[in-house]
Amino acid sequence: MKNRRKKLIKFLFIFIWLISVSLFSPAEQKPLTVAESSQFTATSRYSDVMEFVRELMRQSALLRVETLCQSPEGREVPLLIIGNPPPSSPQALKYDKRGIIYIQANIHAGEVEGKEASLMLARHILLSETHPYLDKLIILIAPIFNADGNEKISVENRRNQLGPEKGVGVRSNGQNLDLNRDSMKMESPEIQGLVQNVLMRWDPLLLVDCHTTNGSLHQEPVTYSWPLNPNGDLSILVYQREKMLPAINKILKEKYNIASIPFGDFKDARDPEKGWQTFSHHPRFLTNYVGLRNRLAILNENYAYADYKTRILGCYSFLLSILDYCQDHLEEISRLAAEADARTIKRGLEPSEKDSFAVEIEVMALPEKITIQGYEMEVIPREGTWPEVKKKDKKKSYIMPYFADFIPKREVRFPFAYLLTTSDPEIIAKLLQHGLVVDKLLEPTTLEIESFQIKEVKAAERLYQGHRLNSIKGEYILEKKEFPEGTLLVRTDQLLGNLAAYLLEPESDDGLLVWNFFDRYIVPQWGRGFETYPVYRLLEPANLVSKTLR
Ligand SMILES: [Zn+2]
Repeated sequence: MKNRRKKLIKFLFIFIWLISVSLFSPAEQKPLTVAESSQFTATSRYSDVMEFVRELMRQSALLRVETLCQSPEGREVPLLIIGNPPPSSPQALKYDKRGIIYIQANIHAGEVEGKEASLMLARHILLSETHPYLDKLIILIAPIFNADGNEKISVENRRNQLGPEKGVGVRSNGQNLDLNRDSMKMESPEIQGLVQNVLMRWDPLLLVDCHTTNGSLHQEPVTYSWPLNPNGDLSILVYQREKMLPAINKILKEKYNIASIPFGDFKDARDPEKGWQTFSHHPRFLTNYVGLRNRLAILNENYAYADYKTRILGCYSFLLSILDYCQDHLEEISRLAAEADARTIKRGLEPSEKDSFAVEIEVMALPEKITIQGYEMEVIPREGTWPEVKKKDKKKSYIMPYFADFIPKREVRFPFAYLLTTSDPEIIAKLLQHGLVVDKLLEPTTLEIESFQIKEVKAAERLYQGHRLNSIKGEYILEKKEFPEGTLLVRTDQLLGNLAAYLLEPESDDGLLVWNFFDRYIVPQWGRGFETYPVYRLLEPANLVSKTLR
């Protein structure tokens, strides 16, 4: 009897101990970013990011990690897949209505707040009880896109930027390439991995690319842009510019109390009201490239002269605002992308005379003026060079035109297809890397086509990203030509019809001819003059017997 009582008391003790342990022990420690644990004096190294991600995986089943690419120096660049539940593969989403949003940081590894903010965002979504956004969205995050650049942390890098005081990484990747100029030529494993393992594999509706500004002095800590190139589907460009980003700007202000403005620089800091000017329309810039693929893209540039903590919190709140908007407008943005795809294919099936491709593009002011909260400026003349412009303490708001409307200056007719009379393996590989559908003619075919007769080729004197960019002059000739069996064919009635034109048009300002892919084909072995550009434009629809390359 006594024994049984003893046993019962012992059992009760153990029971109470177990209950109290489970009820009163502190919750699992949420991991801190290096920015947070260093009181905002340092940024994470690659190993810190991986450790943070591993800890999130330990604490949450809603995170899976894939490899985006292996960097030139051999680091596995992580891609976080966050969902409730996280999909095991894109195929698992066939009957799933959730939208996919992709957030990328650290493409320029001296611009680090996106890395810290995107890790905080992953933690917030995964470890808070409500798991915000995950009813509607699957969120992909590449927090350390340029891992090799990140590891070259030094206090000497980006000294103009306000912190972190223990230094940041460098702009370029392990091949000394600027990854935000690599979208068209795709020479880095990072951009190749992005296109193959994110854009083609997961097909996100929206890409967000986080940076830090370099230029003008203003008060707003967050700036942003949309895809700028007018050879993309204009409904996406206009929707993002007129509706989406103004709404996100408003959410950021009203819900998170942070001011933001469209990205830009004063055309002339000595006289700010001359205008605010955005960057270039070229699709070598990632967000412009994504626009050409009929998907939404947001460039985030946080203000370099805001302190590090302000930049991180600005970026973090901006990302939250974007997700707030996307979950509320998911059907709208899904429809927008689907309609752009359908329009692209329809145009390619039967391009009309009005369908065009802009070979020269100029920037104009948008109809509405922009207000920038700036400072009074002090202009100090300097002998033999530009005057130095400094900000005074007194704040001043400027109202001025915003040069961000890229419009066609010269256009050519948009063709039904391109025929390539070279089977250069590098060129074929490049087209396939972008995800284009490339065919081969199965029989000799005579067609009336436009050839481009080159009159002049100028290679840039100064090397740029390892290239001497070509600019060419010439004329189009309408002629009949027989194409042998095996000729490569790129039809424009495909999802990436806009990108196909941008890569292959002879006069494209960011195409493969510009980036030297055709150099060996345009100059004859003997004699003077030039060969015909080996890509022919087929304007009218034709019944072509062909087979798709795999
Ligand atoms: Zn940047």
